[in-house]
Amino acid sequence: MVDRMKSNFAPLFKSVSADKPSLPDAVWFHSEDISDADKPMLPPLLAESFRYWTTEAKELALFNSGRFVLFDIDLQAVAATEHEHIGIKHDEAMEAAVKEALQAGAPGTYASACAKAAAAPLLRRSDGVVFAALAYASDDGGVEGSTGLESYALHYRSWFYRKFEELYVKDLLLQQQRTEKEAARRDSLFQTAKRLYHQIDVSSVLSELLMSLEHLYPDSEVQLYLSQDHLNGDPRVKPLIFKNAEHDIVAKAFLSGKSVKEHDRDGSLRLAVPMSGNQSAYGVLCLSIGPGQWDEADLPAFLLLAETSGTAFENAKLYEQSNLLINELRLINELTKRLNQSLRLKEIFQFASSELLTVFEADYCCILQLNKEKNQFAVMSSNLPALESEHFSPEYGFSGMVYRTKEPMIISDYWNTRVVTSLLMDNTGSRSLIAAPIMVDGEVVGVILVTHKTPSFFSYDNYKLLQVMSTHIGLAITNASLHAEVRRMVITDNLTGLHARHYLDEQIQSRQRKDPFGSLILVDIDHFKKVNDTFGHQVGDQILKQVSEIISTAIRQGDIAARWGGEELAVYLPGIRAEQAYRIAERIRRHVENETNPVVTVSCGVSEWTFEDEKVSVETLFYRADMALYEAKHNGRNCIFVGQT
Ligand code: GH3
Ligand code: MG
Ligand code: MG
Repeated sequence: MVDRMKSNFAPLFKSVSADKPSLPDAVWFHSEDISDADKPMLPPLLAESFRYWTTEAKELALFNSGRFVLFDIDLQAVAATEHEHIGIKHDEAMEAAVKEALQAGAPGTYASACAKAAAAPLLRRSDGVVFAALAYASDDGGVEGSTGLESYALHYRSWFYRKFEELYVKDLLLQQQRTEKEAARRDSLFQTAKRLYHQIDVSSVLSELLMSLEHLYPDSEVQLYLSQDHLNGDPRVKPLIFKNAEHDIVAKAFLSGKSVKEHDRDGSLRLAVPMSGNQSAYGVLCLSIGPGQWDEADLPAFLLLAETSGTAFENAKLYEQSNLLINELRLINELTKRLNQSLRLKEIFQFASSELLTVFEADYCCILQLNKEKNQFAVMSSNLPALESEHFSPEYGFSGMVYRTKEPMIISDYWNTRVVTSLLMDNTGSRSLIAAPIMVDGEVVGVILVTHKTPSFFSYDNYKLLQVMSTHIGLAITNASLHAEVRRMVITDNLTGLHARHYLDEQIQSRQRKDPFGSLILVDIDHFKKVNDTFGHQVGDQILKQVSEIISTAIRQGDIAARWGGEELAVYLPGIRAEQAYRIAERIRRHVENETNPVVTVSCGVSEWTFEDEKVSVETLFYRADMALYEAKHNGRNCIFVGQT
């Protein structure tokens, strides 16, 4: 018996007095005793020790000749031995004897005509206070054999204290275990908190949290409901949806900012704890625990973990956001730098389009520009070839919507929310879309559409970024348009709408580097002075315009018509020999003769250069044409002469 106890005590000794490992005599709890406060716990202990005692004591004499009953201090029988011959009368006798024993703190007896009983008090080992009584009645109605009852009582008491000590030690061990468990939990909480704070990206914080929770509560199911889109593919992370806050403990916990508990019928428990940082609430941690597995003492630790993860989540989010902002700034800086490097509209559209595809990792992009005169959107650049130089009405599709609302938009699934029909979405099988207007002076001048085949591909941040990018693209377009306009003004003659002379000079020089030959026609209105004198300068100007118009329609797209000076006009025909230039000049001459009002005629001088000529300067070309023109004037006007090479 002692051995068994020793082995039971071993862990206690280890931690309580390591320097005295095995000294049962010196066991300090031998001096421990029950106290008045232990009274409610006594009956079961009394009964249990009685059971153990009887197994050992049943061999003794009194057992076979009578009945033992154990009474507590309140005179309640808590245990008894079986003895079939004892009549009911004995109980009263016993009670009387026990009463006496309890009061006197010494053995008592009771005898009536038909029943006799004896009782011995049980005294506490430390202070001798009575805490129970052992009563005996023999079946022959006598108590003669009960003189040894005191020693029976002592024997029983030794069993009682043995059981008491066992219980005491068990309790100590339990407390010890609980303390150790708490220490372990605190330690692992601390480690978790440390690890959580080490994570700087939101995804890692979430993974770390879920992993730690599973480690801390291995038999439970962990779920995390987030109010913002941070779904990282983990099935345990779910969006927080408010359906019915009344019945939904997750929503309730989020809205109230307090933990909410819910017991299922089968005894399992669901615990929802809000996960908040300093700035806002981010979600709800939810723990589902099987019946009987939850220790209420764990609640503070769990709350602490939720709080820690809320702060860590917030920190990671802030870090992520600041990184995102820095990246955005860097990107926009780079974009504007690159956009401003070019003043050519076509280049800007193409660059913007390819940049948008890269930044958003999008599948398709389309930039449309509004042509106010034609009242239609023209596709300026797109990586979908079918859309290149396509035109749309300002009411059509998503560009139409953006045009109407002047607002950016985000579509998470086109297949489910077919607000409008879109050629871009249909032709590419796209499901996600972000779109933004290109605004100049508060007016929509264009629309950017960016798409992806995966639904819900673009985030809110993407949508915001596109908005910022579209502002910069708009600025670049405005710059380039202004530049183009200024350039157009510089190279265009105001009155005739033909090119200015310096432009013609530049173009001839540039074409001479590329082409094998080319021709120049000089056109001079005959007797223009007289026209002016007769009809006035304004009519003269009209005639000049009419002749310019005739020249413009008589030539091809690559030919360059310019106002050479006063009433002299010039056309350069790249890759055209003099012979053909002559025919073109002839056409011009005929049209002028037939179509001007008041009628005027023109004389033309033609010159040409070929690669065989050595360095024909623009001046030489003009000089030769001018010479030919001079000849035409001298040969009666309204005719064409070709200059000599
Ligand atoms: P010719 O047949 O020999 O070319 O006779 P011409 O009168 O056309 O030639 P001249 O060189 O003597 O006169 C050119 C006139 O063209 C002089 C000027 O009044 C007129 N002129 C030049 N530029 C303009 C213009 O921009 N508008 C108008 N209305 N007249 C112009
Ligand atoms: Mg003239
Ligand atoms: Mg002239």
